[in-house]
Amino acid sequence: MKVHKPHFPFLSLCVPVLLFVTWIFAIQVHADSNMSGDQQQDSDQVVWDANTVQLKSQELKPGVYAVIPTEAHDKVPQGQPAATSGGFIVGERGVLVVDTMLSARLAAQLIGLIREVTDLPIRYIVNTSYHGDHCYGNYVFPKTACVVQHPATRDYIAEYFDQDRAFMMQYFGRGRGIEEVIPRDADLLVENNLTIDLGGISVEIRHFGFAQTDGDLFVYVPAREVLFTGNPLIAKKPALPWLLDGRHRESLATMQAVQKSLPANATIVPGHGLPMTRDDMTFTIDYLSTLDRVVAAAIKEGLTLEQTVERTETALEDFKGYALWGWVHAQINVPAAYHELSEAKSDR
Ligand SMILES: [Zn+2]
Repeated sequence: MKVHKPHFPFLSLCVPVLLFVTWIFAIQVHADSNMSGDQQQDSDQVVWDANTVQLKSQELKPGVYAVIPTEAHDKVPQGQPAATSGGFIVGERGVLVVDTMLSARLAAQLIGLIREVTDLPIRYIVNTSYHGDHCYGNYVFPKTACVVQHPATRDYIAEYFDQDRAFMMQYFGRGRGIEEVIPRDADLLVENNLTIDLGGISVEIRHFGFAQTDGDLFVYVPAREVLFTGNPLIAKKPALPWLLDGRHRESLATMQAVQKSLPANATIVPGHGLPMTRDDMTFTIDYLSTLDRVVAAAIKEGLTLEQTVERTETALEDFKGYALWGWVHAQINVPAAYHELSEAKSDR
C-alpha cells in the first residue's frame, strides 16, 4: 500500500512555523498591493476578516439555499479570496446545514438566515472538511443537531484541534472569535455515502476520495440538482484550488469524478464563491491537469523547483488572475506537485 506523506502541516503539522512565516509574508505582499496606512494595520494578516463579513441567503431551488458572503459579489470576479460559502436545505421535518463558518458571529448569522425561512428544527450539520472556516461554528448550533463528518475529519479534530486553532489564528487573525471556539466533532460518520430524508426532499452526502483533505464530503440534492462542495472547489475562474495537503493527481481524479456525476444543468455552491455551473468546474480541473503535465515535464528535464515555478509562470499563463497566485500556486501547489512527482520518479 502506498502511504501518502502530507507535505503541508494540516495533517503532519511538522513545519508549521516556517509555513506561517511564508503565508503571512505572502498575505502581507498581497495586502501591500491593495491597502495602505491604517487599513493595512488592521487587516494585513488575514485573508478575509471574520469580524466584518456579512452573510446572505439565496434560494437556488425550492427548499435549497446557498449562504454566501456579500463581499463575494465584488471579490470573486476580481479573483480575490472571499469568506466561506455554505448553505442549508429545508424539508418537511427539519433542516440540514452545510458548513458552519469560522466563528460564533458568523454561525449566529447563518442560524438567523435559517430562521428567516423556517422554524423547523436544525436536524443535521454536515462539515465538508475539518478546515476551521467550515466547522468551527458547530458549537453554536443546538445540541440536538446531529453533526455529520467523514471519519478522517473526526480524527483530525480529535487529534489536532489545539494546533489547528493556533494555526487558524495565524491565518485569520486574533480577536476574530477563533479563541472561543469549542471543538465539536461527529455524531454520525460517513465513510462513503449516506442519504438523509428530510421529508419531501432527500440529501446525499458523498465522499468521492481525496479532494483537498482525506475527509472531504460533498452534499448533493438530487431532486434539485444542487451540489455543495466546500474547499475542493474554491470559486469559479480565476480562483485556484489550495493543495494544502498536496496530492494533486488524486484531487484531479476526484474533481473529474464529481463533475461527471452531475447533470449538465446542476448548480454548484463552491467553498468560497458564488453559485456556479457544472461547466465552471472545468477551470479548476484544467488547472490541476496542466499543473501535473508541466511539473512532470520539468522534472523529466531535470529542472530545480525554482526553475519549475518559473516555467509555470508562462506555461500556466491561462490560469493566472487569482490574487493569491504568488502564494497558492507558486508557494503551495507547485512545490507540492514537484516534491510528489520527484518522489514518485525516484521510487521507480
Ligand atoms: Zn474554506
